[in-house]
Amino acid sequence: MPIHTVTPGCQFASDNTAPMSPGAWEALSQANRDCQSSYGDDAWTARACELVREIFECPAEVFFVFNGTAANSLALAAMCQSYHAILCHEVAHVETDECGAPEFFSNGTKLLTLSGDGGKLTPAGITHAVERRRDIHYPKPRVVSVTQATELSTVYSIDEIAAVSDTCRRHGLRLHMDGARFANAVAALDVPPRRITWEAGVDVLCLGGTKNGMGVGDAVVFFNTSLADEFAYRCKQAGQLASKMRYLTSPWVGLLEDGSWLANARRANAAAARLEQGFRAIPGIEVVGRRQANAVFARLPDALAESLRAKGWKFYNFIGAAACRFMCSWAVTDADVDALLADVRQAT
Ligand SMILES: *Cc1c(COP(=O)(O)O)cnc(C)c1O
Repeated sequence: MPIHTVTPGCQFASDNTAPMSPGAWEALSQANRDCQSSYGDDAWTARACELVREIFECPAEVFFVFNGTAANSLALAAMCQSYHAILCHEVAHVETDECGAPEFFSNGTKLLTLSGDGGKLTPAGITHAVERRRDIHYPKPRVVSVTQATELSTVYSIDEIAAVSDTCRRHGLRLHMDGARFANAVAALDVPPRRITWEAGVDVLCLGGTKNGMGVGDAVVFFNTSLADEFAYRCKQAGQLASKMRYLTSPWVGLLEDGSWLANARRANAAAARLEQGFRAIPGIEVVGRRQANAVFARLPDALAESLRAKGWKFYNFIGAAACRFMCSWAVTDADVDALLADVRQAT
């Protein structure tokens, strides 16, 4: 029995409102044509690993899990003892949206939050956090976690990542990157992925697939391959080892093989740019922050936000930015953006 959706167009609540992108869907359907070995010992999974290594131009260790919370939590747990601390931004997804999973899977490693403009950590902030306490009574900082693109739709430049990474090396810290929207950062910077990951000193990247056009699935990419030792056991114990792994990995092949991972991110960023430009031309709307990726943050009069919601538009009030968040997925079209802008203009 098909369940038809009645809402035309795309929404702005989350990148997760989008369907699977066509290449990912097609690969999934191809993977359904034959029998294959289980638990990742199959051709699709091998190809997906190979494609990740090609895109990053390095011999990384790659693991596929069901979502970003699992990817982040397990990757962080792999780098910490329970008495360690992880330094992250106060609006970081690992702090605000993972229900304590990083602490849970690491058996109690403490997240220490730092502030910083645009959702970004700074070398000075990290150094201060490391140096303010060094005694036995305080959890020992061991990992820095950055989000690329950030929760506030900004992007760390190559130099910013390198500066954070230098600070990490100086203090014996490892560098984790939450890349739920990594493709959007690559699209925004227009650089080879290696420049903002292993070449800049990132030890492990959680690479987002779901928001990029998969139906389900994110990857953990260890550039520092010694950290991947026994990681497969962590995945299995956490319920993150898919028995029919090919259904998780074939869409990755579809997404990575033809470059649609990057094309999707470019579309999402372009939709956000169009929306931002439209907002800026409407009096009474204040665009907040310096958008580089696929979300626009804006302050709207309460009555306006209410009337948009009454018309069926969906978007969040984002606490960290004290503004409304309009998130553009890869599937948002110019027509979707223009329809929203038309309703905004009509209501003002
Ligand atoms: C969406 C997102 C994740 C992953 O969230 P899941 O719901 O666990 O897939 C991780 N980090 C950031 C910054 C995100 O936006």
